[in-house]
Amino acid sequence: MTARSSEESTMLVEMKDVCKDYPQGRETVRVLKNVCLQVEEGDYLAIMGPSGSGKTTLMNLIGCLDVQTSGDFFLDGENLRDAGSNRLAEVRNRLLGFVFQSFYLLPKLNAIDNVALPLMYAGVPKKERRERAEEALKTMGLEDRMTFRPNQLSGGQCQRVAIARAIVGKPKLLLADEPTGALDTASGNQIMDIFDRLNAEGTTIIMITHEQAIADRAKHIQYIRDGVLSSEKEAKPEAEEAAAPEDAVPPVQTGEEGETHA
Ligand code: ADP
Ligand code: MG
Repeated sequence: MTARSSEESTMLVEMKDVCKDYPQGRETVRVLKNVCLQVEEGDYLAIMGPSGSGKTTLMNLIGCLDVQTSGDFFLDGENLRDAGSNRLAEVRNRLLGFVFQSFYLLPKLNAIDNVALPLMYAGVPKKERRERAEEALKTMGLEDRMTFRPNQLSGGQCQRVAIARAIVGKPKLLLADEPTGALDTASGNQIMDIFDRLNAEGTTIIMITHEQAIADRAKHIQYIRDGVLSSEKEAKPEAEEAAAPEDAVPPVQTGEEGETHA
C-alpha cells in the first residue's frame, strides 16, 4: 500500500489487485480478477469486453456503487477500501457523474427537473438549481426541449438530458456504461462529440462499450475478458476458444448470465 501526497496525485482512479466475488448458490464466483487500473486526470478511457465479462461490475466499483471483495481502490487520492456507504455517497456526489445505456430519466419529470434533481440532493437552492439545469441543457443543444418529458424526446435527446444531469454537479469523472448502446449511429456519434468536448474541457471519462467504433473515440482502450483487465486486445492463446465450425451447436450455458442491467 502506498501513501501518496496530494501534490503528486494527478491519478484520479487507481485500482490494485481488485477482486470482486459474487455468491452463486453456495459457491462464490470471482467476477473481477486482480484488476489493476490507473486513470489520470484528463484521461479518456474506453473499456471493451464481451457481455458478461465484468464491465458493469467494474464500473459499479469505480462509481462507488459497490465495494470490492479485496484489493485497493483509490479515487482522487483516497483509499476507499474501508469507506462506509455514507462516505461512498459523499464521494459519488462530489466527484462522479453517471451515464447509462437506458438513460434512467424519471418519466414524470421534464428535462429541467430531471437535470436539477442531483442538485436538490446536494442542497442547492431552487432558483440556482433551475438556472444550472437550464445552462447544462443548453450546452447539450436542448434549449428548445427544456420542458419536454422523456416520452416526448428521442433516444438521443434523452441521452443528452442524462448527460446534462451527469455534469450539472461538475464532476471530475464521468462514468458511462454503454452510453450509445440504445442509440442509432448518428445519435451515438452526437453523444461521442459531446464526450470529446467534455474531455477537452477537462472532465475525465471512463466509458464502457462493446463497439469498436465507439471505443476508438477514446484516448486509450483497455479490454476485459472473463474478469481480467488488460491493455492487450487479444486474449492469451490458452484462454482463446477453439474456432467452431459454422453449423456447430452453441455451447451449453454454464449458469453465467449475460447482461445484468436494463
Ligand atoms: P458485463 O457488464 O460485462 O456484461 P457484468 O459485470 O454485468 O458483465 O457481469 C459479469 C458477471 O458477474 C456475470 O457473469 C454476471 O452474471 C455476474 N454478476 C453481475 N452482477 C451480479 C450479482 N449482483 N450477483 C451475482 N452475479 C453477478
Ligand atoms: Mg454491462
